[in-house]
Amino acid sequence: MSAVTDKIKEICQELILSDEKITQVRDLMNQEINKGLGRETNPQAKIKCFPTYVRQLPNGKEMGKFLALDLGGTNFRVLLIELAGGIAHSNMVSKIFAVPNDIMVGPGEELFDHIAHCLSVFMHEHGVQNEKIPLGFTFSFPCRQEGLTKGVLVTWTKGFSCSNVEGKDVVKMLNEAIRRRGDVEIDVLAVLNDTTGTLMSCAYKNPECRIGLIIGTGTNACYVEKLDKVGTWDGDFNEPQQVVINLEWGAFGDDGCLDFIFTEYDRDVDKNSINVGKQVFEKMISGMYMGELAGLALRRLCREGLIFNGKGSERFNERGSFHTKYISEIEGEKNGEVANCQAILDELDITGYTDEDCRHVRYVCELVSRRAASLVCAGLACLLNRIKEKHAVVAVDGSVYRYHPAFHNLMTAGISKLIDPGLAFDLMLSEDGSGRELP
Ligand code: BGC
Ligand code: MG
Repeated sequence: MSAVTDKIKEICQELILSDEKITQVRDLMNQEINKGLGRETNPQAKIKCFPTYVRQLPNGKEMGKFLALDLGGTNFRVLLIELAGGIAHSNMVSKIFAVPNDIMVGPGEELFDHIAHCLSVFMHEHGVQNEKIPLGFTFSFPCRQEGLTKGVLVTWTKGFSCSNVEGKDVVKMLNEAIRRRGDVEIDVLAVLNDTTGTLMSCAYKNPECRIGLIIGTGTNACYVEKLDKVGTWDGDFNEPQQVVINLEWGAFGDDGCLDFIFTEYDRDVDKNSINVGKQVFEKMISGMYMGELAGLALRRLCREGLIFNGKGSERFNERGSFHTKYISEIEGEKNGEVANCQAILDELDITGYTDEDCRHVRYVCELVSRRAASLVCAGLACLLNRIKEKHAVVAVDGSVYRYHPAFHNLMTAGISKLIDPGLAFDLMLSEDGSGRELP
């Protein structure tokens, strides 16, 4: 890490998690998962551990044409996939559509009309508007599932807050919007969380995949659990006696159990979010919040006269002005270079900064991203210890993992320190995002 003054170190100290605290987070996560899986304890649990009804993972032999919708990350995407029994013969085309902010927070029906519209445009562009193609709906929010094709939204997360969707089945809402248009037909095969989509897309290539992880706009994980551990399971007990559990770990800490690692920056981010008191773990980790955490710490240092000669700028003081991508850009610089950092400080209208300031900015970015990585490691180690496979693969996707220069290595090192002896793992980047389709 960069050299910094003692005073800055002292102020930033609370952003550093000791090994002991990280271990504590891992163990708390395990307790919370047990609570979420227990039939009697689930109502009080914050990690909801939703059974997904996905029992079997793809094996790479799947065939056929599929459509996929991917809603809930940075982009909304529509995909058309042709699986021909192996990666080498498979084909995929996709298109990104914007979801305007007024739709993200407007009436639910309008959101689904917009999705149906984009799907129709895409199907016409690819000349499949007269086919009835099976569709997988990646809907990356906490849903209580009652089968593969029924998912009731429990609560919005990230930047979404459409009215009249919470408590409703999103597959039904999608089907109704498509029926209202009347120009295309679909056959919804499954509604999936992005973590499950990521796990399945990687399992198609690697049979050792057991965990799906997203570190993007939001964060969450899913894993394959044995049915006899899932007290809330109400499906059949046929083989395979396992099911993918969508943890919804973003809500970890919503009962206050993580307050012991909270900083003033965490409290500030939460207080100013659209879901106060919710998604506490997510707010310490994911891309939607990481930049702001660093921004808040930097503003404090500036207020105390420790950087930029105590002189910020209007832009710099604006909430949200320090983007998460800045962290990746700044930490991506090698050999003490500061060109990226300078460009960012220019963009923020900061003048008269020194090379030492740039080192300090980098230090704060490193603390925030390292803390996020450590928290993810605590969660993953907990899962790997539960699964207890000699070697398990974690399928990973999301903008933070993809673009942050150190995240992968931080995670590999961090997890290794936290898993039980005799266990090994690999982190595998999902190639095509979380939209890849069910077999
Ligand atoms: C959502 C999860 C999702 C995660 C990553 C969270 O905010 O609640 O369902 O998997 O973001 O996209
Ligand atoms: Mg995604």
